[in-house]
Amino acid sequence: MSERTATVVIVGGGFGGLAAAKALRKTPARVFLIDRTNHHLFQPLLYQVATSVLTPEQIGSPLRGILRNQKNATVILGEVKGVDKESRRVIVDSADREGVPLSYDYLVLATGASHSYFGHNEFEKYAPGLKSLPDAVAIKSKILAAFEQAEAEDDPSRHKELLTFVLVGAGPTGVELAAAIAVLVRSSLKSEFRRIDPTSARIVLVDMANRVLGPFSEKLSADAKTRLEELGVEVLLGHGVDQIDENGVIVAGERITAKTVIWTAGVTPSPAGKWLGVETDRAGRVRVGKDVSVPGHPEVFVVGDTASFEQDGKPLPGVAQVAMQQGRYVGKSIHRRLVGRSPLPPFRYWDKGNMAVVGKGFAVLESGKVRLSGLLAWLVWGAVHLQFLAQRNLRMAVFLQWVWTGVTGQRGSRLIVSRPLASEDEPHLASGSNATTNRPLPANQPALSGDGR
Ligand SMILES: Cc1cc2nc3c(=O)[nH]c(=O)nc-3n(C[C@H](O)[C@H](O)[C@H](O)COP(=O)(O)OP(=O)(O)OC[C@H]3O[C@@H](n4cnc5c(N)ncnc54)[C@H](O)[C@@H]3O)c2cc1C
Repeated sequence: MSERTATVVIVGGGFGGLAAAKALRKTPARVFLIDRTNHHLFQPLLYQVATSVLTPEQIGSPLRGILRNQKNATVILGEVKGVDKESRRVIVDSADREGVPLSYDYLVLATGASHSYFGHNEFEKYAPGLKSLPDAVAIKSKILAAFEQAEAEDDPSRHKELLTFVLVGAGPTGVELAAAIAVLVRSSLKSEFRRIDPTSARIVLVDMANRVLGPFSEKLSADAKTRLEELGVEVLLGHGVDQIDENGVIVAGERITAKTVIWTAGVTPSPAGKWLGVETDRAGRVRVGKDVSVPGHPEVFVVGDTASFEQDGKPLPGVAQVAMQQGRYVGKSIHRRLVGRSPLPPFRYWDKGNMAVVGKGFAVLESGKVRLSGLLAWLVWGAVHLQFLAQRNLRMAVFLQWVWTGVTGQRGSRLIVSRPLASEDEPHLASGSNATTNRPLPANQPALSGDGR
């Protein structure tokens, strides 16, 4: 390396990118962390924002704040659009500038994943996914608005459709969210409505697999399914969703009419593989070597959900621990190269286990030979999640909120702050139309609220 200070560019301030940046804190290099949002997001608790237990601020931390004491790190709010690996530059769009090149000596791509509708992108309009804070806030608004709309609806025959919630995908996100909606209706909402009974809500969890929580052992999957059913969630397994539209879903040829459908199925990696023009796996994740670098480009690393790393003949899963361990490893590798130390041994993932929560007081936990379900697993789940929140103040805020919600049933944020009645083509009540059918209100019937803005 020449005498000038080396530049390390990290794209993505999620679990992988942030771990890499922190591992470079004592490195004689300029570290640029670029993210299209200004915050690090603790995705495992997104479902709690979507069900109004926590507020967005409780699971997201400004990247600038997290790295404020790391003098060699500069945070850039911008969206990377491509990489020119020959001239070693990333191309960034920021607020008012497009295609700005930023040179690097080392590049770490940690750009995560987004939803995959398995080729049915038309489903997205009716079935939003849960990946970001805006997604969680939109889903929360959609869920709460469905109850509001049912309460305001004079025709009781429409209540069933309004209070049916379908979740497509019974992996950890689907299971956690379905259980959390069930808890929401049976606790906080239960006594607050006069014309509807929130506990009559129908919550349906659909998956084409034959069990929920595929990555877990069969016993824990079965425990989770039993728990979901105790909470009143209908679990439909072994059937894919044939259709999702404005009226709900069609599963195994049968229509489930539902106002709210949420996509909790697949994910697809970021386009890092396309930017680099390198080999990817079938899912589109960049195949990386034993040191997590891109073959033929020892200065480019790809970590986390957007990387494909094989260990013992199997690809590593897309979980936070993999991203953090790879990010840390890559940060340390770059450090050692820059200070002239010998390279690290090949990367090896240490699997500490899997957890999923199924409503209040119940989780499943698998770690090595340990398999637990129930209250103890839930306590461990709580402790581990608190520990991994990015900042100490968030740990305290989330802990206090959990205790408060547990004791009083009161939630962090029940405000509907995005578009009240969700879909673009449905004028809401205040605009003078019936909210879901676009039938005009009778002339003598006033709009129920607001001034239509
Ligand atoms: C709802 C949900 C629940 C989950 N629950 C768990 C769980 O309980 N346990 C677990 O281990 N894992 C869980 N995961 C998975 C875990 O969150 C991911 O595996 C992990 O976040 C991957 O880390 P990453 O660094 O690869 O990507 P991310 O953490 O997703 O970070 C990617 C970052 O890159 C930024 N970015 C993307 N593209 C660009 C671009 N072009 N330019 C600039 N910035 C960009 C994004 O804004 C983001 O900040 C969950 C995921 C979701 C969505």
